[in-house]
Amino acid sequence: MSKSVPAFGLPHVYSGKVRDIYEDRGDLILVASDRISVFDTVLPTPIPDKGRILTALSLWWFERLADLVPNHVISATDVPSAFAGRAIRCRRLEMVPVECVARGYLTGSGLAEYEKSGTVCGVSLPAGLVNGSQLPEPIFTPTTKAPVGEHDTAMTYDEVVAKVGADTAEDLRRLTVEVYRRGAALAAERGIIIADTKIELGFAGPDRNLVLADEVLTPDSSRFWPAETWQPGRAQFAFDKQYVRDWAASSGWNKEPPAPEIPPQVVEATRDRYVEAYERLTGETWSGGSPAG
Ligand code: ATP
Ligand code: MG
Repeated sequence: MSKSVPAFGLPHVYSGKVRDIYEDRGDLILVASDRISVFDTVLPTPIPDKGRILTALSLWWFERLADLVPNHVISATDVPSAFAGRAIRCRRLEMVPVECVARGYLTGSGLAEYEKSGTVCGVSLPAGLVNGSQLPEPIFTPTTKAPVGEHDTAMTYDEVVAKVGADTAEDLRRLTVEVYRRGAALAAERGIIIADTKIELGFAGPDRNLVLADEVLTPDSSRFWPAETWQPGRAQFAFDKQYVRDWAASSGWNKEPPAPEIPPQVVEATRDRYVEAYERLTGETWSGGSPAG
């Protein structure tokens, strides 16, 4: 997946499914592309504006979380002009080797574990919960940070302690749940349920302070459900990728790469949902063009 193609003379550091990372003057330039992935496969058709929408949304959240946790943003404007609006200049951190997930609702891999054992990542939950149920309290459900091409797997809290030490583990749990609570409460006022979210933290400076990195509270790092269609006991309508998933399920594609092109009306409907998520959350109209910041 990694393509070592320099852009604007900047060394290329890494490419994930959706983002490309470059190095500049010791900082990282995190560039969100318009690529979309479903079932862990990147589709050949981009979703116009997706990268800029998710970049603008992350920046919006970083500001609203800044009193809870410092973040890695240096600048949204001091980036190569071709990336304007879709890139963030970030402080390069030593990333914590744990994906920090908080869940307020039960679904996905959490539901699968609960149905087997009544727990999620070792946390016991009350009986009788179903797909989409709200949990009594948000819980910390960390996973490993798997290498490219492999799936992250659930970790118990004790496994996190063994990996990063008791103090850092406690900080990770507290910060993850605080970010989730703040995000979910704000989104709920605007008709969006954030069922769960993944954050990434890194250590900065000689004191190794924890800093919020990566993207935050976007539809790519979280499950967003429209509140008006939420109904426990079945799969929920996902805000972002629902049209693509429905199309994929009906297209006959076997969910293995390579994926077929997405039809234009599905691209359009998907773009509309990203715009709608942005507009509902921020209360701003998506301008469709001007660089963020
Ligand atoms: P996926 O395609 O499943 O998302 P991925 O997470 O490896 O895979 P990206 O999200 O595109 O792909 O990559 C972002 C990478 O950059 C992650 O490995 C993340 O840990 C890392 N990262 C994010 N912010 C920073 C930072 N400030 N310093 C160092 N690394 C960072
Ligand atoms: Mg990622």
